[in-house]
Amino acid sequence: MILKSITLSGFKSFAKKTTIDVHSSVTGIVGPNGSGKSNIAEAIRFVLGEQSMKSIRSKSLGDLVFKGSSTIHALGRASVSLTIDNSKKVYNDNVAPEVSKFLAYDEIVLSREVFVDGGSTYKINDAEVRLKDVQSLLSLAGIGASVHTIISQGEADKILLASPKERKEMIEDALGLRIHQIRLRESERKLLKVKEHMNTTELLRREIAPELRHLSSLMQKLGKVEDERVTLLENYKKYFKYENEAIKDLKAKLGNTTELNAKVVEIKQQLENLNKKETEINSAVSNVHEKAKLNQEKSEKQEERFVIEREISNMLYEKKNILSKINDEIKTLSIDKNIFVNFKENINNNLDSVKKLLNQGDIVTAHNVIDSTKNILITSNSWHSESINKEELNTQISNLENKEQELNSKITNIKTNISEIDEKIEKLNSGKIVDLQNIYREKSETERVLRDIENKISSESYHRANLENKENDFIFATTEAQKFVGHDAMNYGFVDMTSYDHVQNMRAIERSKIRIEEVGIINGGEIKNNFEEMSDRDKFLATEIEDLTKSQEALNTLVESLVTTIDNDFKKGVEKINFTFSNFFHDVFPGGRAKLFNVETVDEENGVETVSGIDIEVSLPDKKVKDINMLSGGEKTLCSIALLFALTSITPPPFMVLDETDAALDEMNAKKYGKLLQKLSEKSRLLVITHNRETMNECDILYGVTMGFDGSSKMLSIKFDK
Ligand code: ATP
Ligand code: MG
Repeated sequence: MILKSITLSGFKSFAKKTTIDVHSSVTGIVGPNGSGKSNIAEAIRFVLGEQSMKSIRSKSLGDLVFKGSSTIHALGRASVSLTIDNSKKVYNDNVAPEVSKFLAYDEIVLSREVFVDGGSTYKINDAEVRLKDVQSLLSLAGIGASVHTIISQGEADKILLASPKERKEMIEDALGLRIHQIRLRESERKLLKVKEHMNTTELLRREIAPELRHLSSLMQKLGKVEDERVTLLENYKKYFKYENEAIKDLKAKLGNTTELNAKVVEIKQQLENLNKKETEINSAVSNVHEKAKLNQEKSEKQEERFVIEREISNMLYEKKNILSKINDEIKTLSIDKNIFVNFKENINNNLDSVKKLLNQGDIVTAHNVIDSTKNILITSNSWHSESINKEELNTQISNLENKEQELNSKITNIKTNISEIDEKIEKLNSGKIVDLQNIYREKSETERVLRDIENKISSESYHRANLENKENDFIFATTEAQKFVGHDAMNYGFVDMTSYDHVQNMRAIERSKIRIEEVGIINGGEIKNNFEEMSDRDKFLATEIEDLTKSQEALNTLVESLVTTIDNDFKKGVEKINFTFSNFFHDVFPGGRAKLFNVETVDEENGVETVSGIDIEVSLPDKKVKDINMLSGGEKTLCSIALLFALTSITPPPFMVLDETDAALDEMNAKKYGKLLQKLSEKSRLLVITHNRETMNECDILYGVTMGFDGSSKMLSIKFDK
């Protein structure tokens, strides 16, 4: 790969797009202080992916964009591109595919742009790429990220001042080992990941091992009760089918309770209406009390009548006695015997009929008979008027008769009273009784209907409870069956129920359950599933470990081979560098010697680990100093340049940038420097920034950089004819 040109646009002082063609072996860049020469070197650093702001003298990426002047506006974007000739087609197996595709082109344009607000992008042949890809390409091209390709102003002796570790890195970089190292680091990272993954996988496998052992011993036990479980499964299926049918039947039998309840409400309403009617009628009949009072009154009146009648009867008896006394009186009288007999007979007859009539209760007739008897007696007065007691007896009788009359009129009153009472009672009862009777009939009929419905409801609720029990039993059995034989128990739809005996089947189920429980494994299905799942997982983990072991082995091999390659290449490289270095050194310090050697130093970063590095030993003719720090400025520069040139001559980069590397040299040494440049330019294109005329003499072409009044750098080329 050979550098063809550099283009700057908006970068630092280069406001306008400026291209520097690098056709010649040694390209010189000259110009006054502050004209922008070093900006060109930094532009190259920038496009190569420089991450250190300090190395490009800025605080932020935005500082890299042209900031404007009194006559030119500030810009928003800066870009730099390098055009590399790849007609010789460099290939390398170690390059990532993202980069290797560009290696097919004759020309590779690497560019990077940055915006004022920061952020930068990389492109290879106009396709956006990552920094990693850029680094990979550069490593392939022999342009390392380290100092040796671009020697910044004032850093000529940087390689001498670097620590052994840093120096080793520079050498590795120069030898093109960076690409191997990137790959080595990547492989080591991968290896670490694989190891971590392996550890986790092994841990997981160890974690499940006891569970797997336990499950496989359970599986052995399970094998022993497998037949029992098959029987139980079949029996459970039959049981479920049977119960399912029974439940369905029960459900079909159930009536509509809501309808019945509605009817109950309706009938109760009817009853209430009837009760209301009954109360209404009863209150219209006035009330029972009045009726009772009338009946009481009636019986009192009857009692009164009875007393009077008894009094009358006593009176009649007394009257009879008096009349018989009168009779006796009459007997003593001298009357015609016949008349007397007749008279006596009449009286007796009358008395008998009175007695009879009284007994019959016919008081009126009795009264008449008594009246006629009285007349007979009055007639008799004429013929025994002389009787002493006759007057007196007659008075008694008339008294009795007066009283009797009085009593009789009383009885007549009482009779009238009783019939009045009867009339009242009759009035109270008339009409309403019939209504009440109708209501009673209707009520008892309605109550009967209500009882029927209530019976129906209670039998319904019995059936419902029965159904609920059955359903609960079913659910319970479902859970239990799943525990014993798994979900398959529920596939009872097509089970054969020929000659099914429910009781026998229930017994068989219980027997099987007991046998299975004796073995101690209830949920065989779950164990089986768990075992399968667990052993699958174990197998998976085992395969994973196997795969990981394989990739670990592959990575180990790769790492080993990379380490070996790096080590060998490094050793060989250092040998070659040493050879060239001592030649160059000899050229600039005739009679002097210099060499690189391996050292182990404590790592500056952590201060503990030892790291290997490269140190330099020099001996100058006629001088005893061996330590490079004791060399003069010019000596340091020459020694440093000899080493840098030795480095780059082994794996020549497409170009080198040397920014006033010759600044410290006197005329004599500048000539020696010029010779070294000539030797180096045989292998790499050189971009030399200088104020030194001796150096300018070595250039094939000179570019002049000037800074105009507008604050932007301008380029003039001066072809140099030797
Ligand atoms: P010397 O010979 O002294 O080393 P030089 O030619 O190397 O000088 P540079 O260091 O390349 O000079 O250029 C420095 C100039 O670039 C300064 O004048 C500075 O103002 C200018 N400069 C740097 N960054 C920007 C920027 N972002 N925009 C405009 N000008 C800038
Ligand atoms: Mg400068």
